[in-house]
Amino acid sequence: MSEPKQNTRLVHDGSHPEDNYGVVNPPVFRASTVSFQTVAAQAEARADADNNFVYGRRGTPTSSAFEEAVANLEGGDKTIAVGSGLAAIASAMLAFVSAGDHVLVCDNGYSPTRNLSENFLKRFGVETSYYDPMDSTGVKNHFRPNSKAIYLEAPGSHTFEVMDVGAIAGAARDAGIKVVMDNTWSAGYFFKPFDFGVDVAVQAATKYHVGHSDAMLGAVTVTKEDQEVVFASARQLGHHAAPDDAYLGLRGMRTMSVRMDRHETNALKVAEWLAGRAEVDQVLHPAFKNCPGHENWKRDFSGSCGLFGVVMKEAPVEAVHALIDTLELFGLGGSWGGYESLVLPTNVTRTATTAPGPGPLVRFHIGLEDPDDLIEDLGAGLDAFSAAC
Ligand SMILES: *Cc1c(COP(=O)(O)O)cnc(C)c1O
Repeated sequence: MSEPKQNTRLVHDGSHPEDNYGVVNPPVFRASTVSFQTVAAQAEARADADNNFVYGRRGTPTSSAFEEAVANLEGGDKTIAVGSGLAAIASAMLAFVSAGDHVLVCDNGYSPTRNLSENFLKRFGVETSYYDPMDSTGVKNHFRPNSKAIYLEAPGSHTFEVMDVGAIAGAARDAGIKVVMDNTWSAGYFFKPFDFGVDVAVQAATKYHVGHSDAMLGAVTVTKEDQEVVFASARQLGHHAAPDDAYLGLRGMRTMSVRMDRHETNALKVAEWLAGRAEVDQVLHPAFKNCPGHENWKRDFSGSCGLFGVVMKEAPVEAVHALIDTLELFGLGGSWGGYESLVLPTNVTRTATTAPGPGPLVRFHIGLEDPDDLIEDLGAGLDAFSAAC
């Protein structure tokens, strides 16, 4: 048989019924102690601890099954599952730095990454510079002899600019800088980071892998070259993915293809409708021609997920609150990637670029509801917005 395609692999990867009495899904192994019959057997397992089960914190057959499926979806060699997307980011960045080093972070990166830099890395003598994600030729001007890692995210959190990953990763590689990419928006389903020179791909599996808003989970995927140092970083920090959550992550992946395709079409329909409304100044969605980096998205990605933003017409903050408080089908809350629609007023910190504006920013996650119902709900919300202006 020829190499199975992505949707086939999403259904079968990590599935080993022959190891589990024929049961289709892996059991949830809840474990701390793993016991051995002899000292020799324990020593043998410990000598190759990455490929054996030696202690609950270091993984179980449940987390291994999830890791196998994620590694294949991202297109890397190996994945380590951790407790959250942020733990994945921290494990990856900390793997490459020592006191006195320097890292680069895209100016539109997930804000807890900036927080990690400013409040944690800084205390250990690691300095961070922020670069304009849309300036792929200028990024090398930020490189220093002690630059060890660069963090990429495409599209950027809240503002959705799509950087040229290949160009930025290529420049960093030429300078001997490790390339870490947060690939959460695409879920690994719409973008293959290792084809573009990324060294380490991070997922907040909390989002589309789990897909049902009921677990926290992260994943770090590497090639063989970086496996040792990145896995050691995650393990030395004590990171671990809880077995129930790893199970939910793998279960979510089984239906990821149908969910992603539905998120995509629903979000495009809602975003196009929003773009036609007078209350909306700009839609921030990579599939829209006016989105910075739209051409990069079109060239490098195979689709778009349910998450995008809008810049509202200039309005008092009460108008945004009226919009959000009127919505009945949209939950107000952080995270995204579940089956349900969400709305969030956003504020962004930008130090190397200018945030879109001047009106307020609102982020939408479009779920699996009927988009006509979402549009009707948004119509009422926008009426309330106008009334409060
Ligand atoms: C949510 C998110 C994370 C962090 O994931 P958690 O599982 O919540 O820690 C990281 N990166 C991006 C882009 C995210 O949206």
